[in-house]
Amino acid sequence: MNKQEVLSILEKYGLQAKRSLGQNFLCNDDVIGDILEFAQLDKDVTCLEIGPGLGALSEKAVLLAGKYLAVEIDTSFQQRLEDVIVKPGGYILFEDYLHLDVKDLPIPDFAPDVILSNLPYYVMTPIMLKVLGDFPRCRKMVFMVEEDAIDRIFAKPRTKAYGPLSVLTDLFGSKKKCFTVEAGSFYPAPNTTSAVIVIERKDEAAEAGQWNPQWIGFVESAFALRRKTLINSLSSGGKYGKEAILAALRKMGLKDSVRSEELMPEEFAGLFKILQGREES
Ligand code: SAM
Repeated sequence: MNKQEVLSILEKYGLQAKRSLGQNFLCNDDVIGDILEFAQLDKDVTCLEIGPGLGALSEKAVLLAGKYLAVEIDTSFQQRLEDVIVKPGGYILFEDYLHLDVKDLPIPDFAPDVILSNLPYYVMTPIMLKVLGDFPRCRKMVFMVEEDAIDRIFAKPRTKAYGPLSVLTDLFGSKKKCFTVEAGSFYPAPNTTSAVIVIERKDEAAEAGQWNPQWIGFVESAFALRRKTLINSLSSGGKYGKEAILAALRKMGLKDSVRSEELMPEEFAGLFKILQGREES
């Protein structure tokens, strides 16, 4: 799909790009081809796309994947997406992904092997975090993110950018930045450069029970009060008492005054297990 095609699709269906919904449509066939190359879809693959927009990725992904579902917030795309997704055999659900309960998906027991998203930047972090909690068995995630987010995704402990995105993607799998994408590859052009990243699940990441919304919420609350100690940050959510957190820290051999940015990703996992009463003796 190139810029001319995007403009004529908008005109044909009487649509406009809504900046408030992060609508920057891909209009560079090379970038679209490269993203699909990294996704490696085939008939054995079940694919979920978040935010299909005008269908730049979807129109090809739906033909390559064995099963394909897209979740889109903007119902004004309904006619266009019925043409490019539903007619060739895919499914589309019009809903805010952030409010989606995976139990309500239109395909029973839907378990994507690959998740694809040119993420809407205004909700990039919450969508990525929710995906990690919703689909722990997903093998590969291919995301377009804003270049600024790369720092947060790849940050190391004891740095300012280190946070839930770095910790959770690190534990989930191996991650790599594949290539950068200039603003001119989108219509309308965003204010930043973008990048495509791939996260591939580590086998041990699928450890039963660890990847769920509670675990994601635990890591988020650990960073809720960045300037405070981990005890204060974790207890501020009201879910864990200071005594229990203190006992867990001591059991892990961590100092009482430790701050979240000092913990290695594995130490968050260890603490969570202890606080959930699931640690091995
Ligand atoms: N995939 C298309 C492409 O590459 O051209 C569109 C990408 S555009 C950056 C982001 C898309 O996500 C838009 O279609 C937007 O309407 C949709 N979107 C925004 N917020 C969403 C949400 N909370 N849940 C689902 N889709 C959302």
